[in-house]
Amino acid sequence: MTEPATPRHDWTEAEAAALYHQPLMDLLWQAQGQHRARFDPNTVQLSRLLSIKTGGCPEDCSYCSQSARNGSTLSASRLMAVERVLAEARKAKASGATRYCMGAAWRSPKDRDMAEVEAMVSGVKALGMETCMTLGMLSDDQVLRLREAGLDYYNHNIDTSEAYYPEVITTRSFGDRLATLARVREAGIKVCTGGILGMGETVADRISMLVTLATLPAHPESVPINLLMPMENTPLSKAAPVDPLDLVRLIALARILMPTTELRLSAGRSGMSDETQALCFFAGANSIFMGEKLLTAGNPEEDRDRALFARLGLQAETVQP
Ligand code: SF4
Repeated sequence: MTEPATPRHDWTEAEAAALYHQPLMDLLWQAQGQHRARFDPNTVQLSRLLSIKTGGCPEDCSYCSQSARNGSTLSASRLMAVERVLAEARKAKASGATRYCMGAAWRSPKDRDMAEVEAMVSGVKALGMETCMTLGMLSDDQVLRLREAGLDYYNHNIDTSEAYYPEVITTRSFGDRLATLARVREAGIKVCTGGILGMGETVADRISMLVTLATLPAHPESVPINLLMPMENTPLSKAAPVDPLDLVRLIALARILMPTTELRLSAGRSGMSDETQALCFFAGANSIFMGEKLLTAGNPEEDRDRALFARLGLQAETVQP
């Protein structure tokens, strides 16, 4: 049994690169050792994601079909009614999800929307589920209002390395992202932040992204790792797919750099084989999104996930951590 490593916050990119590029079996062995030292290796947390306001976003994220700047054919919706969100959350709970993530295609929330957003958080919380929101950049006041409503997690992805960020998004900076994350952390809300692979970045960019997360004053409680799902009409619609073993290596590296963090295998699972997903779980992934849709991208159907869990002997986490 591997001794659990004390989480470090002083990782360098050179150290992380050396871990990443070692022989795969050695990397997986180290990652699995750290994983087993802190987690049940056969249990996976299930989250479900709902888009509470879709399309018409003023930001220019090159990967996103919801950006109004990407010639999207998605029409902008209004903020979903609170009762509808709660009805969807009840269904998610009945199907085994313990965390409900709600996402809005905004640069940042308008103050006029906050009362409804708070009602969604408190309503989902009252169902006995953990709550997560992704609403864009937040002011100090908005962070405090979400905390008072009972928000458990705030998702705000850094997406890629600081160096590559301007190639993907120009309407906000990497520093803006880190500033919102710091506000969320300071307010005592748990931090969910990760990135996307397959946007034309190098392996060094991916490693740099993880080092940014692993050198924050506190490691994020949750790190989603997404594979780009190329969307029609977006600048990245023709992006090349990621080598599945590069994904596995990155998850293993994330497990070693951030040994207590929940690692979520997020977008892109619908295109992954069972074997790739099995290796990702072995490397330390211990959370997934369930359901058919992730905001606007496809996700494996629940039946396929049930069959996968049965095949691998995995069980869904049933109690909140
Ligand atoms: S990723 Fe979010 S912020 Fe960026 S365009 Fe899409 S909805 Fe807007």
